[in-house]
Amino acid sequence: MLIDIPDENDFYIAAENLINSAWSSLTKLLEDHVVFEDIEAEETAKDKYWIYAKPELTAAAAMVQHAVEFYLKAKILSISPYLLIASEPRAFPRKSDSKDVSFTEFRTLDAQDLLKVLNTFSSERLGEDFKQWFGNMRLMRNKIMHTVDNNLSIKPSELAVAILQGHEYLVGKNSWIKSRTSFLNRSPEHGVKIGSTKEHDAYIHLAIHRELSLVINSLSPLYAIKFFKYDEISYSETCTTCYEIFSHCDFFDCKWTDSFVQTLQRRAELHEEMECIVCGVVAAISKVGCQECGNFSINSSTRECLWCAINL
Ligand SMILES: [Zn+2]
Ligand SMILES: [Zn+2]
Repeated sequence: MLIDIPDENDFYIAAENLINSAWSSLTKLLEDHVVFEDIEAEETAKDKYWIYAKPELTAAAAMVQHAVEFYLKAKILSISPYLLIASEPRAFPRKSDSKDVSFTEFRTLDAQDLLKVLNTFSSERLGEDFKQWFGNMRLMRNKIMHTVDNNLSIKPSELAVAILQGHEYLVGKNSWIKSRTSFLNRSPEHGVKIGSTKEHDAYIHLAIHRELSLVINSLSPLYAIKFFKYDEISYSETCTTCYEIFSHCDFFDCKWTDSFVQTLQRRAELHEEMECIVCGVVAAISKVGCQECGNFSINSSTRECLWCAINL
């Protein structure tokens, strides 16, 4: 009998951990790079920074590819674990027909066959655009793993797109923030919960905003819209709901959020309402700005400024 059959969920979590680790590397590098910008380092120093960051960026890109393979395996496992076994009966482990054999002793599918197997047996096929994207990612990963190609480099924005695109294909559209929040909840930094739940959630919410701001600032405007619905030319304000959550951090200082992008944005498609790209809160827009804070976002039922509770 076959024993130690892997679980679909184990592979899914392993994939999430890998892709999130790549994101952690990326955001850490972007955050450190901001220090150079703050001290107004010369252009050459800023460029050199990315040369030194190359090994970490390429390693993170390889992790994304690895994660994609795990997502595909999780999807195949959800149909049947036996589909992952690649060997002919004559190549089965010794005495497999007379004793229990662990799944790990069988040869499993090569990365190049995962998509074909999935699309053959699944009712939800991954399309031609995924196939092409996956092929390019595999090519890049093979170069990273098997040769030292000095010409191979990946820009931080390209790594961000690889992570977000891969996640969109395999998990779903606009699901990154949710996935990132659950990863941070099981990360070494945040997994051990200290303090109240509100305080714990506040630090995670702050981390989400910090990372999102760093990545959005490195993405092209079209990608920021595609992956986060963040439109840099849309009228934006700081979200009061998110800000209220931050305030539960110990010794919270509003300076912490100075560099964050403003996530409450005007949405023409929502009949001129505003929506936060992180927490999803929806607010109405006043025709006149608040005389106290200058903001336009108001509570849709009370018509009061969200910051000052003044009626507009
Ligand atoms: Zn918000
Ligand atoms: Zn106000």
